Amino acid sequence: MDPQIIPPSSYLLRMADGTVKQINPFTGTEVWTVPRRGTRPRNNVGQHGAPIDPARAGAYCAFCSGRMLETPPEKARLVAASEGSFQLLRDLDAESLFATEPEFRRVPNLFEIVSYDFWAKNFGYTMPDEYRSMIAEIVRLVDGPLEISAGSELLDELKGRTH
Ligand SMILES: [Zn+2]
Repeated sequence: MDPQIIPPSSYLLRMADGTVKQINPFTGTEVWTVPRRGTRPRNNVGQHGAPIDPARAGAYCAFCSGRMLETPPEKARLVAASEGSFQLLRDLDAESLFATEPEFRRVPNLFEIVSYDFWAKNFGYTMPDEYRSMIAEIVRLVDGPLEISAGSELLDELKGRTH
């Protein structure tokens, strides 16, 4: 295989969302430095373990079944069906999240490496109306009747995506 010549103009690229792409001209190794990754929460650093409060069962963290609106919008879940089998449910609306008990949930990473902003600001991605209204419904429920104290970062992120 012929060696690939990497033009100097590709060594360092700053993208519209702030992502910096660097290419090593000798090896071709590409490194991306993505904005916001360094600011993701690390609030358990230095903390020591503590007894678990049984009164908070099902609501210890944002991934617990009692706090399903505190994750980014769920993409899919598995629910127990008959005789050890599972049913796959996708893109449930916010109110339907509580109609079944998931054995497994798949949710996006709030601090993803390649973010929504990366695709929106660099490549003009726009969210499908179906997802925009799903997010608006979650924001409405969290802000309104359910009175759930979601992490403000998640709520701000979701509100930013409904415009
Ligand atoms: Zn949990």
